[in-house]
Amino acid sequence: IQHLLTIDNLRVNFKTYGGEVQAVRGVSFYVDKGETVAIVGESGCGKSVTAQAIMGLIPNPPGKIVGGKVVFEGAQISHLPKKELLGIRGTQIGMVFQDPMTALNPTMKVGTQIVEGFVRSHQVSREEARKRAIEMLSLVGIPDPEKRIDQYPHQFSGGMRQRVVIAIALACQPKLVIADEPTTALDVTIQAQILDLLKRLQEEQELSVVIITHDLGVVAEIAHRMVVMYAGMVVETGTVEDVFANPRHPYTWGLMRSLPRLDEGEKQRLIPIEGSPPDLFNPPVGCPFAARCDFAMEICEQQMPVTSEFGRGHQAACWLHDPRAPRIEELVAAGR
Ligand code: SF4
Ligand code: MG
Repeated sequence: IQHLLTIDNLRVNFKTYGGEVQAVRGVSFYVDKGETVAIVGESGCGKSVTAQAIMGLIPNPPGKIVGGKVVFEGAQISHLPKKELLGIRGTQIGMVFQDPMTALNPTMKVGTQIVEGFVRSHQVSREEARKRAIEMLSLVGIPDPEKRIDQYPHQFSGGMRQRVVIAIALACQPKLVIADEPTTALDVTIQAQILDLLKRLQEEQELSVVIITHDLGVVAEIAHRMVVMYAGMVVETGTVEDVFANPRHPYTWGLMRSLPRLDEGEKQRLIPIEGSPPDLFNPPVGCPFAARCDFAMEICEQQMPVTSEFGRGHQAACWLHDPRAPRIEELVAAGR
């Protein structure tokens, strides 16, 4: 069965004055039609760079895809010429960014911005374009769309602006939407509304969505499957259900511990993961999490962990699950 989107062993480097940063180091995952996949991890883990690679937005130079590929609907898009990629972006793949202001043109009426791509790809009359813009505004839940289409971005609140950005992303009826921290810049109640909107649109339009976030709450709210990234690599992946119920990677355990449990009433103190991610100018040969991991063994620093499979596509790259490793119980018993 063919996936809508396949990322296969993707590697992205960035050249800097200090040397070459290996931002994405062999990332693989897929997205099927009609599902939402969350890429989750701390800042600098390579999640945004992975999203940029999917959209052909890696600035080259200094960035470069140095290995692997991105396949969309069976066609490799990671090495397409810019012009062809531009055709796919916008008509097949829509984008929603963290800060709606950077995605909007402040000097252009929102209605015009919403249908710009649509008009380019469909050759429609002015009236049709206007009708479409009104439809899109009401689809994303903006009240009074007939009046709102003639307004400028500054006349909208932050949450309403993000709705406009989503309308732009959807105007061409893309199959895939990539949302990079779409709610991070918004306050909590607005965040929830935008997540609800994305969820509703995903279901109604049978969209596939890749959502990039550092927030496990967002993952739980909206995603079907998740990809946990650390230091440019995928350390765990699986259905949201399986990973939340039974996380298999010590880094994921740390992320879960730092998740506030609202159901437990009192606001709990978050337990951050101590230490910082490795230097990606000169990444470790072994497990990237070894320096921060309470369970690290000798082999962890010497060799990259192999990936173990736990059923239903749940996988983790950690030596603890290798038959040669000591049992987790033994490590706990030994005081770790
Ligand atoms: Fe920890 Fe070793 Fe697993 Fe890495 S491979 S997460 S260091 S136990
Ligand atoms: Mg980012």
